[in-house]
Amino acid sequence: MAFLSRYAEPMARLIEELKKLPGVGTKSAQRYAFHILRASDEDAAALAEAVRSLKASLRLCSVCNNVTDIDPCLYCASPTRNQRLVCVVEEPTSIAAIERTGAYQGVYHVLHGTLSPLHGVGPEQLRANGLTARVERGDVDEVILATSPTLEGEATANWLATTLRSFSVKITRIATGVPAGSDIEYADEVTMARALEGRRDV
Ligand SMILES: [Zn+2]
Repeated sequence: MAFLSRYAEPMARLIEELKKLPGVGTKSAQRYAFHILRASDEDAAALAEAVRSLKASLRLCSVCNNVTDIDPCLYCASPTRNQRLVCVVEEPTSIAAIERTGAYQGVYHVLHGTLSPLHGVGPEQLRANGLTARVERGDVDEVILATSPTLEGEATANWLATTLRSFSVKITRIATGVPAGSDIEYADEVTMARALEGRRDV
């Protein structure tokens, strides 16, 4: 970190914080920091305020773990959605990809990650307990496993299928209309709609 000594302390501090963001290396962090330094006071303040307000006003839905400003979230509280059909996704961003299809009328459960033994992520690090509890209570007719068709997404889907199999619930997996190895949040609407439509029992 010797290079940081070239920067004034506030600059070095911002660069260090920016480097904690996914996909941001030292070079990008320096570029963003200098961009913020050159920005108007208003723009810099708006960025700081947006970060602060995100943490202050958003929380996780107590039912499905979706990021929300109201609890339960708008999906879990909706009287027009099928509360007995639960689509399991890795991240809240996946919900947007599924909602864009306009073809899904159920609710969600967000795991906030996938099983990844290499990165030390085991079942206890996933937020799966709420889902198991809903299924155990008999509140769910079908669980759609919509984790990405990556190695880790498949391992997560297999683990969930095994865990939930002891309960009387239909378990399905989205079709591989989603390109193998890709992230479902980048699937286009047609692909995503087909993946949901072509789901199969597991
Ligand atoms: Zn919810």
